[in-house]
Amino acid sequence: MLIAGNWKMFKGPEEAGAFCRALRDAKLPDDVDVVVCPPFVSLAAAVQSLAGTEIGVFAQNCHWDTEGAFTGEISAPMLQELGVYGTLAGHSERRQWFGDTDEVVARRVHACLDAGLHVIACVGETEQERDGGATHDVLRKQVAAFEPDPNLVLAYEPVWAIGTGKTATPETAQDAHETIKELLDVPVLYGGSVKPENAEELLAQPAVDGALVGGASLEVESFAAICRAAARIHS
Ligand code: PEP
Repeated sequence: MLIAGNWKMFKGPEEAGAFCRALRDAKLPDDVDVVVCPPFVSLAAAVQSLAGTEIGVFAQNCHWDTEGAFTGEISAPMLQELGVYGTLAGHSERRQWFGDTDEVVARRVHACLDAGLHVIACVGETEQERDGGATHDVLRKQVAAFEPDPNLVLAYEPVWAIGTGKTATPETAQDAHETIKELLDVPVLYGGSVKPENAEELLAQPAVDGALVGGASLEVESFAAICRAAARIHS
């Protein structure tokens, strides 16, 4: 079971360091893999504050080239030099606001895996696509961009559930996760308004291998509560 916290554009270096020290002191369960994804400028502080713990630090995005004329981008070797373990890719906010197409996401994912980073790649349908009965087609198209890899995890994040408080029902999540797993045999996290109150029933679904948590990962208490819910399912 993997619980990953996506901080989005929250927490500068100082706040990130203090948060990670508090997370370290929160004594998270041993049998759950835990990852935090701070913004680029806070990665070094997070790595330093979590040194010697099992909590991994991931970036939120990464370019496919090692270096070059790509203003505003960061490469896998740069992240690895900091001690960063992996990266998110294809988050719906990247797809929606920064033009990351399936092709761009695939380039990012494959290059990062080749460089030795772990990757959590996000897929999921919009509300309009779900209402139009296109969910399975969208997932098929998005997942087709990837190839199986031992360091690749997918996150099913229905766009209508991200930051909206509208969580997928456990049955909806299970159905989407089954579809994804038939296409690609990798672990699949659920993401979309996961909170301490709903984590256990979502994580209890057999095809749900963990959670990608946005808003509720910004407070130590709620993030730790979700990690503990994951440990209860596990045991
Ligand atoms: C996310 O950012 O990946 C996410 C799922 O956000 P939230 O938990 O806030 O819906």
